[in-house]
Amino acid sequence: MSGIDPPPPQHRRLARSTRPAPRRPEKRFTGIAISRGVAIGPVFGTTEAPAEILKTKIQAADIEAEGARLDAAIVQSRRQLAKLRARLSFLPPESQEEIAPLIDAYIQMLGPSRLIRGAKRRIAETLLSAEAAVSAEADEIAAAILSRVERGMSADDRASLQRRADEVHEIARRLVRNLTRAPFRSFAGLPDGAVLVSESLRPADAALLDPSRLAGVATEEGGAEGHTAVMLRALGVPAVLGAAGLAHAIQPGDVAVVDGSDGTVVLNPTAATLAAARRAMTAFTRERQKYARLRRLPAETEDGAVIELQANLELPIELPLIAQSGAHGIGLFRTEFLFMNRETVPDEDTQAEVYRSIVEAMSGDPVTIRVLDWGGEKEIDALQSEGIVPEVADANPALGLRGIRLLLRKPELFETQLAAILRAASAGPVRVMLPMVTTVSEVREAREIYERVARRLRRRGERIAEKLPPLGIMIETPGAALAADALALEADFFAIGTNDLTAYTLAVDRGEAEVADLYDPLHPAVLRLVQFATEAALRMRMPVSVCGEMAANPKLTPLLLGLGLRSFSMNASAVPRVKQAVRAVSIDECTRFARRVMERADPAGIAELVQDFGTDPED
Ligand code: PEP
Ligand code: MG
Repeated sequence: MSGIDPPPPQHRRLARSTRPAPRRPEKRFTGIAISRGVAIGPVFGTTEAPAEILKTKIQAADIEAEGARLDAAIVQSRRQLAKLRARLSFLPPESQEEIAPLIDAYIQMLGPSRLIRGAKRRIAETLLSAEAAVSAEADEIAAAILSRVERGMSADDRASLQRRADEVHEIARRLVRNLTRAPFRSFAGLPDGAVLVSESLRPADAALLDPSRLAGVATEEGGAEGHTAVMLRALGVPAVLGAAGLAHAIQPGDVAVVDGSDGTVVLNPTAATLAAARRAMTAFTRERQKYARLRRLPAETEDGAVIELQANLELPIELPLIAQSGAHGIGLFRTEFLFMNRETVPDEDTQAEVYRSIVEAMSGDPVTIRVLDWGGEKEIDALQSEGIVPEVADANPALGLRGIRLLLRKPELFETQLAAILRAASAGPVRVMLPMVTTVSEVREAREIYERVARRLRRRGERIAEKLPPLGIMIETPGAALAADALALEADFFAIGTNDLTAYTLAVDRGEAEVADLYDPLHPAVLRLVQFATEAALRMRMPVSVCGEMAANPKLTPLLLGLGLRSFSMNASAVPRVKQAVRAVSIDECTRFARRVMERADPAGIAELVQDFGTDPED
């Protein structure tokens, strides 16, 4: 790929105003460093757009069921708030004192409050839907509070009444959102160069962000390897997730500094903080310029091993970043994002067009297209509204009907996607990849469907090559890793998904801030599974790559090379750094190093060895 101008560095997209708001003291929050780079900008708080209320009336026979719906939304809202409340303990006491009463007030309103009593009465007496009842009751309560504003009242008293009215509306909005299952975000009105601050951000919401207009993102919820994090990294937006208390501390006019490299967010920075942030931005630009020079150099170790470095792709918007990165091909095209933020599932023609445009853009470099990996935290509303997946989520979606499991149950969905991919394969080299495989029979069944789809397309007159594109699998469950030798007889290639492999091996939710410290891809259990699967593939002389976030960490490159891996796929911005790591080592030293690492059983010891690689004479 060539000829596409690199987009301007992220940090140049400065906000119109970067002056600290007067009178508000600087406040510092610590979260999880998600996506490198520093941003300064006015805060855009997604104080949730009101969800649309489509159903306003119910039948008399449904009063009880409607009350039960409201009760379920109350429980859900309480759970959300309790989680935010619990995380406040990460904050300094003075910040806790400020934010905790607000969340407590919300929680209290979800008890036997006037809002809830009134909403229930409206459901029973006026046959309003739960969402319409909550909304109407909140309007009435807020109006009653504001009617107490009197002439001659002090500004503080007026502000206090306004605040109480706002609180009623805020809790009503949360209930309505939970009742209508509306997405939490509205990016309408997001000013250029703003820092987006929110309680949480779903992967589907992240897919709507325009990185050319946004300076940075900071949220209270979210883990380091969740799909929202993956998206933000892919978009190259400086981001911090899991910063407890942040969304409830912002006020209109606030300015924020987001440091996606060290995981801090500063509200209303002092002049000194701003100056330091600007210095960090300059250093980041220099670093990017330095890496840009690596683009045309080969990814070759000191002893001449050529390493394949590819990019992961979630959205077509990333193509220029990939071109700029020096990646040779796409090692993981996550197709889920094509299905998000739309009312209906994309049909075969729509999908074929997208896949073809991406294959063409890669000008002969290979593209590995992963079929739909629905499940876990990746919600896709269109699948629900078309009745393909149940309206009510599984109790434990990460262990439910995820990935290939759903596709085999819904052959139509699977066949449509396979047909679209096979059609796009006439535009360049393509591979097809199955997510969340755990058993051999899944691969066999998928291959039968794949071949059937190809036959059908040929009958339809489509030009489908006699030899179909390779059909490979993700190794992202411990089950698949331990059955790798058997799976290697069925699959054409492996791509090791270390994100889920780590999550499932260590039983840690990858998107959960609370357990983020337990998520450790260097845990020996994870490394042993990576080693086992890699060796199974190498014995069969079958292609094997890593496409989880481990591949993007240059500190881990020597270890992965030492385990025998020669192909990596990662977010585009990581490619130059990993290339530099590849060029700095020999396979020989990596092999010796990996042997030393694999002898260790303590994650901390392994982390230390990895950190010190290159400085220790034994390497
Ligand atoms: C993985 O699990 O490592 C992976 C690459 O897949 P995803 O992040 O899309 O779940
Ligand atoms: Mg995965």
